[in-house]
Amino acid sequence: MVDLSRSKDAVLRVTQLSAELFAELFAALRAHPRRVAASVGGALLLSSAGAYALVEAQPQLPSRVNVTTLFDAGAQAQTDAIAATDLHYAQSTTVRRQDTVQQLLRRLGVTDPAAVKQLGADARMRALVAAGATPEPVRSVVNAQGELLQLSATLPLPPDADAKPLWRELQVRPAADGALEVSTTERKMETRTRLASVPVRGALTTALSQNGVPAPIGTQLIKVFAPQMDLRRTLRKGDQVALVYEMQALDGREIRPGHLLAAEIRSRGVTRQAVWFASRDNAKGAYYTPAGQGMEKAWASSPLPGAKVTSPFGMRRHPVRGTRDMHEGVDFSARMGTPLRSVAEGRVKFAGMQNGYGNVIKIDHPGGFETVYAHLSSIAVKPGQAVGEGQIIGKTGNSGTSTGPHLHFEFHAAGRLIDPLRMASYVPQGKPLPPGEKAAFFAATAVMRTQLAQAAGADDAVRLARAD
Ligand SMILES: [Zn+2]
Repeated sequence: MVDLSRSKDAVLRVTQLSAELFAELFAALRAHPRRVAASVGGALLLSSAGAYALVEAQPQLPSRVNVTTLFDAGAQAQTDAIAATDLHYAQSTTVRRQDTVQQLLRRLGVTDPAAVKQLGADARMRALVAAGATPEPVRSVVNAQGELLQLSATLPLPPDADAKPLWRELQVRPAADGALEVSTTERKMETRTRLASVPVRGALTTALSQNGVPAPIGTQLIKVFAPQMDLRRTLRKGDQVALVYEMQALDGREIRPGHLLAAEIRSRGVTRQAVWFASRDNAKGAYYTPAGQGMEKAWASSPLPGAKVTSPFGMRRHPVRGTRDMHEGVDFSARMGTPLRSVAEGRVKFAGMQNGYGNVIKIDHPGGFETVYAHLSSIAVKPGQAVGEGQIIGKTGNSGTSTGPHLHFEFHAAGRLIDPLRMASYVPQGKPLPPGEKAAFFAATAVMRTQLAQAAGADDAVRLARAD
């Protein structure tokens, strides 16, 4: 009657259904047999008795319809046994954005006030909902009184632990004293490597999803190439994307994507490649070209992108002294108190008041470069402090010898003053490999580069390979 995977052993018990709802339900079951079968399978896993399970209505099904499904050969005996005991209901839902523990429990059918109170105050349950919407289901088994018999969920990992392929399971069960016992277990996931070759026909994200590439891998791909090109806009029909990425599996089932390990973009005759490498000092890793140059831009193009140049570099008549002399930097128009960012990573060499500069910050950058930011209204860094590219170091102002709020910016290369507007032609394009990591980089990325070549060479839609 219903196309369930174990239909020959299945007996459907339909409770509290009007004839109209019944007809509607079976129309939906016929339309979505696989989804319902999957739900039954999932529910069965949780039912410790293994005798019966309740299928929560899918969104396409009429709401408030409960179907109890009985499995096993001795169907009549089971039916009798169940009639003699309480009904157990297995339900599943996912954590939604802005969920509370109480809302989650309500959707799971838990109405027992003691359980709601205890779990509402439990740190692990709160961590579960605090992480926001998740694709992993939360499952429950409750009895007819709304008392919780079992709950299982996947706990989010701490934000900095993404490199560790761990799966944290949360289990809730009634303890002997009548309260609920909350426990967590950590399980290590197996990491698999997947290769994909994706021909671009329309939108990139569509092409990726049609080839089974998980959305987070696509997002990562776009981010990796963002400093060079916007893949969503530039890729055209006929372009080709090859990917090597990780999938984390539990009990043989691929649960979620890991790192994007390598990527190749072939667009209108130009090939660009990126490989992921985690150095000794940076376990999070970064993306590099196969030659070892960072994909991320190491230097911003300007300390105040988009700001107007009010006075260029070079000989000029000094606006205050009135004499002809050398303007050693560039002046950018900037309102009082505009946040100011370091153009590249480095170490603060000087931060304080200095003659005509007023409040000034001088930063030493790797490769023998120095930048100077003058006439500031406030300074947010200290001498000796390490700063990253884009880090706010202070606010623009009008201190020192200055005729109005602006930023005076200098760029020095190997001790020589250079026109800051020509800075880009002096500084490295991408973040270089950390010193002493070149050999490790080529060794670690050799496998990935081979896999990338394999992926790129595959003309058929997707080729999967195990590299573990
Ligand atoms: Zn100036």
